[in-house]
Amino acid sequence: MTPTRHTLIRAVACVAGVVLLLAAASILAQQRDNAMNTLAEQYVRLVLAVGQHDTDYVDAYYGPPAWRTEAETAKAPLSAIASRAAALAEAMAAAAPGESADELVRLRHQYLARQLESLRARVSMLSGATLRFDEESKALYDAVAPVHTEAEFSMILADLESKLPGTGRLADRFDAFRGRFVIPRPRLDAVIKAAIDGCRTRTLQHIVLPPNESFSVEYVTGKSWSGYNWYQGNYRSLIQVNTDLPIYVDRAIDLACHEEYPGHHVYNVLLERNLLRDHGWTEFSVYPLFSPQSLIAEGTANYGIDVAFPRAERLAFEQQVLFPAAGLDPSTAEQYYAVLALVDRLSYAGNEAARRYINGDIDATQAADWLERYGLYSRPRAEQRVRFIDQYRSYVINYNLGKDMVANYIESRGGSAADPNRRWTEFARLISSPRLPSALTVRSVPQ
Ligand SMILES: [Zn+2]
Repeated sequence: MTPTRHTLIRAVACVAGVVLLLAAASILAQQRDNAMNTLAEQYVRLVLAVGQHDTDYVDAYYGPPAWRTEAETAKAPLSAIASRAAALAEAMAAAAPGESADELVRLRHQYLARQLESLRARVSMLSGATLRFDEESKALYDAVAPVHTEAEFSMILADLESKLPGTGRLADRFDAFRGRFVIPRPRLDAVIKAAIDGCRTRTLQHIVLPPNESFSVEYVTGKSWSGYNWYQGNYRSLIQVNTDLPIYVDRAIDLACHEEYPGHHVYNVLLERNLLRDHGWTEFSVYPLFSPQSLIAEGTANYGIDVAFPRAERLAFEQQVLFPAAGLDPSTAEQYYAVLALVDRLSYAGNEAARRYINGDIDATQAADWLERYGLYSRPRAEQRVRFIDQYRSYVINYNLGKDMVANYIESRGGSAADPNRRWTEFARLISSPRLPSALTVRSVPQ
């Protein structure tokens, strides 16, 4: 045997060793994935079981229909669901991947474990536990909204005094001013469709979606919300618009971007394609509404409005497309949006009303009074909002705190308004991966 042949044999042996190691690593990874998939399936079944006790809980489900039927037939009592969830939490803890595991694998495990923790909190609430507002938002959404005082809102209201015509209560003056910007009912569908078209066109320039993705729009009444996206699976959504109260022209882009492109519809489409179909991660076939997933969903949907329509582009689109479609005078758009930008800084007043109301410090009438005074809601809108708080409780933080957390996260990664392409890239990345609210940094608000 010559030295050359020895070297060759050693090299072959070495390569064979590496191949064997890689094969072993691949088998281990496959085993770990299989173990996680088994746990994920148990989680999905638990979410469906909770849905039997809470009609708002399962926001979307597009896994095997048999699992839903089983949950409906079994109608497991809450105590049994709590026991199964506790056992699953133990199994999840035992299945935690090591620090050296792939980032996506670690994110998956952390996300599923936290979603399960939130499910257990919801089951405990359904079983009669009462949580204070901040405890509830922490348990369900993995976040706590900052506290703001009346004095902070009063300063913003003082700014508005000179911007709104007339005398009397500011809420009434804002209502009268805003009344000039209502979309006439016969024009509503055309305006909403034009807004969706604008949001969709902008989104498709930056995010590749499956060619068969689609949506439909319905107009409904008797709801506590103003708009809702019902994801049906297979890349389809149904958007419902509530016409109980007049719809202002600014709601067109807000609804279209928030509910559809690049908001809820796109978020669900990307989760279904990237995580459920491409990775086979079953947990993404279900969306429990009262969970950390909702802070990411609502936060990205709200931030997505600014991503799709930066201020100057939005104003131009309003003036050129939406105001004419609504039969409104485009020359008034600039003043309207200047006032709305100020009023938007009052959004955290809604959290304060909800926090005091849920904590039992004020009653429903006082909560509506607070919304009128510090949030500039009209009385009917304030009452609709209190009904929303009755139904969804601390969920309200997901909209404004969620948006601020998402904005902070994306902008800290270089996705600022000054770099729109980077902002789209970071936005798409966030809505394509399982990330928890506590992994995003909170910025101090209001500004
Ligand atoms: Zn939403």
